[in-house]
Amino acid sequence: MADRKPLIAGNWKLNNNHLEAISLVQKIAFSLKDADFERAEVVVIPSFTNLRSVQTLIDGDKLRIGYGAQDISAHDKGAYTGEVSGAQLAKLGCTYALAGHSERREYHNEDDALVNAKVRAAFASGVTPLLCLGEGLEVRKSGGQVAHSVAQLDAALKDVTEEQAGRIVVAYEPVWAIGTGEVATPEDAQEVCGALRARIAELYSPETAERTRILYGGSVKADNVAGIMAKDDIDGALVGGASLKADEFAKLARLGE
Ligand code: PEP
Repeated sequence: MADRKPLIAGNWKLNNNHLEAISLVQKIAFSLKDADFERAEVVVIPSFTNLRSVQTLIDGDKLRIGYGAQDISAHDKGAYTGEVSGAQLAKLGCTYALAGHSERREYHNEDDALVNAKVRAAFASGVTPLLCLGEGLEVRKSGGQVAHSVAQLDAALKDVTEEQAGRIVVAYEPVWAIGTGEVATPEDAQEVCGALRARIAELYSPETAERTRILYGGSVKADNVAGIMAKDDIDGALVGGASLKADEFAKLARLGE
């Protein structure tokens, strides 16, 4: 891996009330009290309702854990009931916002154009988009995983500047591996992550591609993270289920050690 700092991000999905969220952050922080945060950046991604509590705890105790949101509106403000804007997230200190998670694409019909609008909204408000993409099982079976993922990347990067592309975080998350316990092999994950980096080099420049962090997500656990991250183009993990267990997530944040 080049000079890219690994990122371990825990997507808590629709779990935990704000008290449980605080408790989980406290437990993670305790498990990581001697951790070397130079080795990996650690981020939690709670529900919107829990962000303020998590922020207060992290800031108050000066914890070296970042936080982000599970989604972001494509709009700045106005009559968009239920939406949360990038400006609101930035004001709360969110470093990241997921855009295009497969559960949003599947259950909320988010298409590539909307994901692109969310990526641009995040940059416009100073929040780093954590762009999720990846193929479903049928595409994988037909061998179309690289073409599918690269097409999603192309669409998400429309009108994204080179400087922004160097800062975006891309998470390759094959849908068939999310929450299923069926993790991609390191070779399978590298195939797509390598192709995504090559595409960024084509769209922008090799230097920008070298800067962009590309994560793998899909049933990552403490005992498989090291094998996945040993691959050249994989700079960390987006973790769902295993991020809800403090000890397991802390071990993940220690890159499996
Ligand atoms: C996810 O939801 O982004 C994810 C990777 O989930 P899991 O780790 O549970 O497969």
